[in-house]
Amino acid sequence: MPPTERLYYSDSHLIEFEARVTARTDRVSGWTALTLDRTAFYPTGGGQPSDTGTLDGVHVIECIDDEDNGVLHVIQGRAPEIGATVSGRVDWPRRLDHMQQHTGQHMLSQAFVTLFDAPTRSFRVLSDICEIDVEINNPTNELIERAVELANNVVWEDREITIKTVTSEEAAELPLRKDPARAGELRLIEIQGFDLTPCGGTHAYRTGEVGMIAVRSWERAKGLTRIEFAAGTRALADYRRANKTARAVAALFSSARDDAAKLTARMLEENKDLRHRVRALEAIAATVEAEELYRKTRPGSDDLRIVAEVLEARDPEGLKHLAVALIAHPKTIALLGSHDKEAARLVFARSEDATGDMNALMREACAMLDGRGGGKADLAQGGGHNITRVREAIDSALAALR
Ligand SMILES: [Zn+2]
Repeated sequence: MPPTERLYYSDSHLIEFEARVTARTDRVSGWTALTLDRTAFYPTGGGQPSDTGTLDGVHVIECIDDEDNGVLHVIQGRAPEIGATVSGRVDWPRRLDHMQQHTGQHMLSQAFVTLFDAPTRSFRVLSDICEIDVEINNPTNELIERAVELANNVVWEDREITIKTVTSEEAAELPLRKDPARAGELRLIEIQGFDLTPCGGTHAYRTGEVGMIAVRSWERAKGLTRIEFAAGTRALADYRRANKTARAVAALFSSARDDAAKLTARMLEENKDLRHRVRALEAIAATVEAEELYRKTRPGSDDLRIVAEVLEARDPEGLKHLAVALIAHPKTIALLGSHDKEAARLVFARSEDATGDMNALMREACAMLDGRGGGKADLAQGGGHNITRVREAIDSALAALR
């Protein structure tokens, strides 16, 4: 069987074509893979996802490059017979998106080479963003933005993009951006006066079609720098999302959009200060509250006071403050608990001159709360998810002490 003639090689803007079905494989899943004598559908490969579209109105959900059998068109629906002539239609918005990302990548990758001699090691078009892994020394926002700037200038110069086919001997004499991945005849993509590289993908006719290229973020990954970028319609979609987020944050401050980051940083700083002040006030409040609890608790015959209380809505820090303030009194034990809707918390503590193993009591109490806890013989903390048994857990520790 002759291999599929790849119409997208010579014209990336061809979206309607006629072809003959040359093979058909039915899958148990109800999907059928068709091979055609010619196709405008680009199959998954080279970091670029497959085209989708229709064959005689039946949905083509993916195309796979099969070395032996040509391009497999996976269709969902009634499959035509072998030998039938079918009308194919490639989904244009998806093809345009992929061409913008792919052509944008050529320019961005070449910009890194031109400016920093930094080659691109891999490329991926993901669902809403693209990635390139670049071998660049000491990347900074400024360096990366310089490459973005250069690539965009090439976009706006609207340079011509041409395809040429050369032999591997001819290719060896040419200044290719990357080494060809295969031997034999090569398909080269040339961006006039800027970039020349072997590639089997679909590209814009002219650089202007890419619209613009924007970098969203970057990070160091496995010795390379992974750069997230978007071109064309994706860059616009990403701008819209970013703008929406920035405006939503700005609205919370009733501020201008571009002041939102500064105001958020200021609020976080103020929040930190407030937390410190609340902690300081809590410590003072705990001393006052501890005095009250201490006074209303009657000492036992051994002169020991055991303050056993379930308090409302205390965090572990607040509960501990209170316990520590209580055991500043001699001959005092504090068995304190609190809970919110999700979790119960306990703090057990004793003054130096009191006896009892708070750690052991805490472990038992936490078992009742389906939780965990522990500490030292004079101070232990814990908690659990069974919020209904806080009182019971404290009473049981109280009984053990008596
Ligand atoms: Zn390409």
